[in-house]
Amino acid sequence: METNDAGTGTGTETAAGTDAAATGPDSGEAPELTEAPELAEIPVEAHILPVAELHLHIEGTLEPELIFALAERNGIKLPYADLDELRSRYEFTDLQSFLDLYYANMAVLRTEQDFADMTRAYLSRAALAGVRHAEIMLDPQAHLSRGVSLETCVNGVASVLAGSQEEFGISTLLIAAFLRDLSEDSALEVLEQLLALDAPIAGIGLDSAEVGNPPAKFQRLFARAKDAGLHRIAHAGEEGPPSYIIDALDLLDVERIDHGIRCMEDPDLVERLVDELMPLTVCPLSNVRLRAVDTLAEHPLPAMLAAGLNVSVNSDDPAYFGGYVDDNFAQLKSVIGLSEFDCVRMAANSIRSSFATDERKAELLAELAASGV
Ligand SMILES: [Zn+2]
Repeated sequence: METNDAGTGTGTETAAGTDAAATGPDSGEAPELTEAPELAEIPVEAHILPVAELHLHIEGTLEPELIFALAERNGIKLPYADLDELRSRYEFTDLQSFLDLYYANMAVLRTEQDFADMTRAYLSRAALAGVRHAEIMLDPQAHLSRGVSLETCVNGVASVLAGSQEEFGISTLLIAAFLRDLSEDSALEVLEQLLALDAPIAGIGLDSAEVGNPPAKFQRLFARAKDAGLHRIAHAGEEGPPSYIIDALDLLDVERIDHGIRCMEDPDLVERLVDELMPLTVCPLSNVRLRAVDTLAEHPLPAMLAAGLNVSVNSDDPAYFGGYVDDNFAQLKSVIGLSEFDCVRMAANSIRSSFATDERKAELLAELAASGV
């Protein structure tokens, strides 16, 4: 019913404004370009395309400065002397080395206000990156295991998402992601609690340590989510093999694949993904930082585009991986020479692959078409 709830089943009803303020946000932001000027002549804003961010973990937006601020507010002693020492830990060797720091830093999140502040910080930065719709994952189990209640983490994030379109021009949906290195029973229990609370979630996801935790482990969870009318997405083919992507499609009935880059090792799978227009939410800077690919120059994204895959660019855990969506696009342009055409194509893919309402998608596609690029 509100403009910010761009999908089904969210029901975040507070503070969204009753006037349905469909203020087509900032429509005059990108100047009309009649011919391609030199790069230096283009205002920075002109490079920013309106996009949907479909692969984003809210806990992965905790910037070092906010970690220190929240630690101080909550009287938590951090194991780092200062910001520089914390930043020095951001050299990862693989997914697990990142996850260790990621979970450790969550210790500063204690109250609803902490979760709200983190969410607000992301949205204000994402707005500058051109994000106009965001589907945000929250890892409830990572907080429950620390003694933080479901209500605290969900309400803290949802309270800000409820007003995100008015405050930041970003429509939002909340997705509860489950940690695949924990048991399916644990995930089912938390899902039932979320449903009992009538939590404003639009869907479920599957994240954390992929290898050794295949989709087959979570078939009952995804069947239950489907029964409950929730959208379904899963990380697959980041570090795990192409067969994990196939199983996510066949066994979990997912509507999007997060990452999916290893599909390129299986031509039959690529053909299937192209035929099904299956969205793959690619996170280039994340893949480099976690050594899924050695360098950005070797990233499979150009090959994925050439194959006709439905790919979009996302930031995953931007505070840890060196940048937000705009940084990802900027790096892709400068390092692999990604064309403006492909940037626009992926921006359109992101909007079409979202769970936003048809009206919101049309609005954002029109905004993209008017962006003058
Ligand atoms: Zn992710």
